[in-house]
Amino acid sequence: MNLHEYQGKEILSTFGVKIQKGIVVSNPKDAVEAAKKLTEETGTGWHVIKAQVHAGGRGKGGGVKLAKNLAEVESLADQIIGMQLVTPQTSSEGKKVHQVLVAEDVYYPGKSETSEFYISVLLNRTTGRNMIMYSTEGGMDIETVAEETPHLIFTEEIDPATGMLPFQARRIAFNLGLSGAAFKDMTKFVLSLYTAYDKSDASLFEINPVLKTSDDKILAVDAKVTIDDNALFRHRDYLDLRDIREENPIEVEADTLGLNYVDLDGNVGCMVNGAGLAMATMDLIKQAGGDPANFLDVGGTADASRVEAAFKIILKDPEVKAILINIFGGIVRCDRVAQGVIDAYKNMGTIDVPIIVRLQGTNSDIAKNLIDSSGLDVQSAVEFQEAADKVQAVLG
Ligand code: GDP
Ligand code: MN
Repeated sequence: MNLHEYQGKEILSTFGVKIQKGIVVSNPKDAVEAAKKLTEETGTGWHVIKAQVHAGGRGKGGGVKLAKNLAEVESLADQIIGMQLVTPQTSSEGKKVHQVLVAEDVYYPGKSETSEFYISVLLNRTTGRNMIMYSTEGGMDIETVAEETPHLIFTEEIDPATGMLPFQARRIAFNLGLSGAAFKDMTKFVLSLYTAYDKSDASLFEINPVLKTSDDKILAVDAKVTIDDNALFRHRDYLDLRDIREENPIEVEADTLGLNYVDLDGNVGCMVNGAGLAMATMDLIKQAGGDPANFLDVGGTADASRVEAAFKIILKDPEVKAILINIFGGIVRCDRVAQGVIDAYKNMGTIDVPIIVRLQGTNSDIAKNLIDSSGLDVQSAVEFQEAADKVQAVLG
């Protein structure tokens, strides 16, 4: 589950990580009230208005703007709320902005220069350990830094038996070129950042930029947070943080139906039982010259209502030009699945795309007969390759 910047910052704050303070609002009037409140708290008269969408690069897309007075707070909030924000990380249509974070300006001038760093915590899948990835090149696109100046990216691996140790935090502060108060503040920052990541069962905490202010404080200006879905049962309070407006609507609907569905770019819809078979089916479609339109695991109970639900989900994708059903009947009998496919087909009236069905396992011969004698525009296949060839044939 991905979080908005303001939600990520709230979590950080509860673990004692210093953040750029802000208040999330959904209309310009509230933005002005939020700015007044922040001025009382922080003393700053300048504010940044930040679009809250699940995508980075908002600054580049015009979704992060500086307001130097209340009139500007109001007009910028008015301009950003409701806009379709296009950033390097969104599609060309962009994402609709429903809320903005009104935040204190933290780039104020002072006795020293401000500096921006990059710090993230994530899992190193090769070693199976969490690590801190960090760089002096903050505020920039980290992929570009990795490509052009990889020597400016450092990592610090965390031993799960000890957790993060103070010397590791000092090494990070040292490698970032800090000294004095900023050095001390950075060691506290990374230690509490790691605690936040660990205790919230996150799979990513990316803070870009981490700012050293002109008075040598270290704080999180941005926060990209992903919570591990498999651990959400331990964090019931985080369930409220989900914003389904940010998610793919077909995937959300499939999720409510209990279908394991991932939308992809191709043109062959797949309905499969079991994640492994689903992956193999996608490979085979690819080999036969097609492109899977989705990953869909219907699970163990492929009865008529489930098959119908899956059909409807697949057909919501206008790119789908053929559907391949590949079901292994182990516990669920193939003839029941075949009947399910036929019933679902009849229930839905007309389906405009050709359907190829491969059913293997218990009662597969009865299943094939049912399909072949159904009189519907559904082709049966016995072998895996045969199914793929039939898909290729109908795609032309
Ligand atoms: P992103 O573009 O989606 O990564 O959004 P960020 O939260 O990282 O903000 C983008 C940029 O806005 C940052 O890199 C900063 O340069 C700038 N920015 C953020 N907060 C402030 C602020 O308080 N004052 C000023 N002047 N600039 C800010
Ligand atoms: Mn950022």
